[in-house]
Amino acid sequence: MTDIPQDHPRYLSLLTRERIVEGVKVGITSMQGLIAQGRGECFDYLLGEKTHQFATESERVAAAMLILAEHPIISVNGNTAALVPEQMIRLSEIVSASLEVNLFHRTDERVNRIIDHLMNNGASEVLGGKGDANLPLSHARGIVDKNGIFSADVVLVPLEDGDRCETLVGMGKKVITIDLNPLSRTSRTATVSIVDNVVRALDVIADAALGMQDWDREQLVKLVESYDNKVNLKMSLDAINENLRNMANEVL
Ligand code: ATP
Ligand code: MG
Repeated sequence: MTDIPQDHPRYLSLLTRERIVEGVKVGITSMQGLIAQGRGECFDYLLGEKTHQFATESERVAAAMLILAEHPIISVNGNTAALVPEQMIRLSEIVSASLEVNLFHRTDERVNRIIDHLMNNGASEVLGGKGDANLPLSHARGIVDKNGIFSADVVLVPLEDGDRCETLVGMGKKVITIDLNPLSRTSRTATVSIVDNVVRALDVIADAALGMQDWDREQLVKLVESYDNKVNLKMSLDAINENLRNMANEVL
């Protein structure tokens, strides 16, 4: 990895890039993953590269929803495997969710490489290698494990594809997404859309879940029911608008 000076003003963003590039080099991340990261970075820039209050709110609701779930799954793709393996494993342990590899550009080799990568980072089990069930989709993200995403009631899908998000919601599942683009089809169709960078969001969800360990079911249900995803998405767009307005005023 290239050495990035820690005092660089955009240290974290550059470090994230290095991780994704490394992921491509070792065959975990696809080339297309680089483009996805670029689109995400653009929206993060517009959001001021921070976790806003509306994101913390959806992250708390996500935590409650995962705790309440009977069969929660965290879906892993090539970007998240390269960027946040430890955070995904930590969250999966705190909320008792299984990890499942699910790829758009799927090859058995890449699936196995990601499974090995997660196991090397401390995961005790990773699904996705069987691929013995199909979602009604014409591309490889439809290939899932029967005892995993196929039968899940709540699925957390960081960096989801819009098509699959719609399909999962159509199957009656609750879908939590992490996507910096509030305009993507993913964000517009998810049950809970977290507009935040995945490198910040996962630990916020995990910490929120830890803080809810003593909560009873009723409190958790109340939090989930009080949440309105459309209102939350509007707040993210308002934040981008306000940020742009402030920046425009600074220019002139
Ligand atoms: P959709 O199919 O939902 O309309 P898309 O086709 O624009 O979305 P994809 O290529 O399917 O996008 O997935 C990439 C998405 O992931 C983008 O919307 C991008 O904003 C988001 N993204 C990329 N990197 C990150 C990151 N580090 N954190 C959060 N979101 C990210
Ligand atoms: Mg897409």
